[in-house]
Amino acid sequence: MTAPFCSTDLSSAVVSRPPLPVRSSAATMSRPMADTPLPKLLLEELTPRLPGMLSVLRTFVATESPSLEKAAVDRCCDVVANAWRRLSGARVDRIAQKHHGDHLRITWAPTPAKGQLLVLGHYDTVYASGTLRKMPFRVSGGKAFGPGTFDMKAGIVQALFAAEALKRLPESEQPRKRIVFLWTSDEEIGSESSRKLIETEARRSDAVFVLEPSYGPRGALKTQRKGVGEAELVVHGRASHAGLAPQDGINAIHEVSRQIARLETWNDLRRGVTISAGIIEGGTRTNVIPELARVQLDLRATTVADMRKLERRLLSLRPQIKGARLEISGGFTRAPLEHKMSAALFARAKALATEMDLALEECAVGGGSDGNYTAAAGIPTLDGLGAVGDGAHSSHEHVLIKTMPQRAALLAALLRSV
Ligand SMILES: [Zn+2]
Repeated sequence: MTAPFCSTDLSSAVVSRPPLPVRSSAATMSRPMADTPLPKLLLEELTPRLPGMLSVLRTFVATESPSLEKAAVDRCCDVVANAWRRLSGARVDRIAQKHHGDHLRITWAPTPAKGQLLVLGHYDTVYASGTLRKMPFRVSGGKAFGPGTFDMKAGIVQALFAAEALKRLPESEQPRKRIVFLWTSDEEIGSESSRKLIETEARRSDAVFVLEPSYGPRGALKTQRKGVGEAELVVHGRASHAGLAPQDGINAIHEVSRQIARLETWNDLRRGVTISAGIIEGGTRTNVIPELARVQLDLRATTVADMRKLERRLLSLRPQIKGARLEISGGFTRAPLEHKMSAALFARAKALATEMDLALEECAVGGGSDGNYTAAAGIPTLDGLGAVGDGAHSSHEHVLIKTMPQRAALLAALLRSV
């Protein structure tokens, strides 16, 4: 069954509750009871905002934003920028890109600001234009389905309503730090055009909150992410007739196979070190001893030390068949987000969640995000703060809608407490 608020659009959400100036007494949240903890107050404020949140989410999802289609992703950038301008009252800067979609930097600054916090996310998705026809936005059974709902447009919506709720706090309760929300357009294709911007803003910040999807039905935060890399091993052998002159050949496929067997022994699942041959090619005909073969490898490691060790081992590979020659390129592109970079922020988030009567869990994951870059820059980073749901990058992608106000309140409470 489709929920009734599904038919409202962004403009009606805005009309129903326009952003109010901070100093207006009507705009300011009041504490019903002096002893209500602020996180709980934020949750009470945000819970009735769910229809508005879904309405904005619907607008974001209805504007498809495949990373590789600049015109489409820029249209979504317009929609996200407009929603932030209208609801948050914050300063919105659009950072133009030539080949990829534009990025958005939104600055919420108290005066005087004592430091900076960075909230990080992306509005591009992995779905090509036209996916909405097969996979329309719909709300059913307490879930909002659609391309990019979970990864991670709902995260951006939650941040927007968190910002709006913060704005409505009494001045004495407002965040003391400048808050920069950075919404990028190319995370799903490796963040090539946004990486510098992310690292620059991270270095100016005391902490980074990443609104990538949480993990599992209970919405665990991601306090550890593996480092991720790719490498290629090319083997040069010598071609020869497999029947007439086998002694003259150096079989590049045999050599690459031996190397792969060796690489396989480097896997250490307990330590979180993995190396996996993902693509292999070589040879021309069965009666020709192949002179060329190559394998492309996926690399993962949980610690910086293990990452470096794996790279060193790769570079030290030597041929096993006499006369073969190896060429090795690539390596890690995202360093691990080590647990120590998240631990203190997670403890704080957990305490704030407890004040809202919510349980909060943490987990380690094998995939990277832009949080890997910010942690590698030495800035405490808490990831997986976005939506609770399932099915990222698949036809059943969805978010659990009742958790949206909870996650918005958690983010608001964090931004105010750090
Ligand atoms: Zn994502």
